Amino acid sequence: MDIGVLRRDGRTDPFFDGTAAGRLVVRRCEACDRWFAPDETGCPGCGADDLAWAEASGEATLVTWTVTRPRDSDQPPAYLALVELAEGPWLHTRLDGVDPVSLREGLPLRAAFVHPDEGESYVLFRH
Ligand SMILES: [Zn+2]
Repeated sequence: MDIGVLRRDGRTDPFFDGTAAGRLVVRRCEACDRWFAPDETGCPGCGADDLAWAEASGEATLVTWTVTRPRDSDQPPAYLALVELAEGPWLHTRLDGVDPVSLREGLPLRAAFVHPDEGESYVLFRH
C-alpha cells in the first residue's frame, strides 16, 4: 500500500536525517535516562522540555497490529502496527514481509529503512 510522500516539518529533522542514513533516532531524556517516541516534546518524568535525540538499537517487539486491505485488490494488504522499542517507547509503524499467521504479541522485530525516490526515507519493521 502506498503511504504517500513524506515531508519533514522541521521538528523532526534529526529523525529523518537518521532514517536517510539507516538509523532509528528517537527522543531521549538524559536526566532520567528514559527514551521516548520521535514525536514526544517533553519528559513526563522530570518535566524537561529539551529532550535529546539518540540512536535506538532498532530492536522491537510487536504490541498490536491491524491489516488494511486497499480498495484496489491488486495491491497487497498493509500491516499497521504499534511496536515497543527495546529502549521502551512505542512507535506507530508498518510491518513488511511478515507472514500473517506468525503475527503475535511480543513477536521480535527489527527496523528496516525504505528510501523512496521522492520524499523522506522512513522506517518499517520486519520479523
Ligand atoms: Zn526526564
